[in-house]
Amino acid sequence: MPRFTDRVALITGGACGIGRSTALRLAAEGGVAVIADVQDDKAAAVVAEIEAAGGVARAVHLDVTSESEWTAVVDGVVAEFGHLDILVNNAGIGDIALIEDTTIETYNRVVAVTQTSVFLGQKAASAALKATGKGSVVNVSSMYGIVGGFGTSPAYHAAKGAVRTLTKNTAIAWATEGVRVNSVHPGFIDTPILTGADKEQLAAAEPVGRLGRPEEVAAVILFAASDDASFVTGAELVVDGGYIA
Ligand code: NAD
Repeated sequence: MPRFTDRVALITGGACGIGRSTALRLAAEGGVAVIADVQDDKAAAVVAEIEAAGGVARAVHLDVTSESEWTAVVDGVVAEFGHLDILVNNAGIGDIALIEDTTIETYNRVVAVTQTSVFLGQKAASAALKATGKGSVVNVSSMYGIVGGFGTSPAYHAAKGAVRTLTKNTAIAWATEGVRVNSVHPGFIDTPILTGADKEQLAAAEPVGRLGRPEEVAAVILFAASDDASFVTGAELVVDGGYIA
């Protein structure tokens, strides 16, 4: 039986990049992919792609910074499918300003979308995930949630570091309630988030000598989400081509 048969997954930022790849593979392995994003047209296109391949998917509008939208989306999923088994907190934004050039407005926006969204998502989905008896949360952080580096902002580093430790806090809190919570830490992955970046420079900084592909991160997200990882919780799974090795 495919790994995700009868599993319903809510994937934020599923309209492109890593989230899209995660939705496509999850659906190909029998799961229902609910793609939650602010880019409604792109989310609908991913749903069409999944349905054309014989899978089941939905697109829902969700601004991950809105607590009321989170509640409505989770309630809607449970009302339609009866359960929510997997939450992938993947949506995030970055910026490339140095600390001297970062306004408080930019800092707060990056933290809201990239970090506070994880708190809101876990809170909104808490009851539904516990009700399944084997819920799973995967929070997409970054290698920059573990180490410092060039080319990204103080807000992004701070937010991704907080996602890492928030994951561990929730993992311990829910360990006896049947919900596993893990973080995934990508290196430089070739997605739209790198638009405007010097991709050759980033690829050269990777020990493997190339950028990662979104499906290479999706594979690890889905390992963490699946029963293959039934004894894995509070873990930080690094997918970075050796960058922080
Ligand atoms: P991406 O830009 O391709 O995808 C991000 C998605 O998030 C988009 O679909 C976007 O519409 C959505 N999004 C943005 N703001 C939102 C909001 N307020 N509400 C709902 N959705 C919103 O980028 P990606 O590379 O696929 O990034 C996915 C995750 O991986 C992010 O958390 C990112 O920080 C992380 N990450 C990416 C890299 C990389 O090099 N690509 C490296 C480390 C970590």
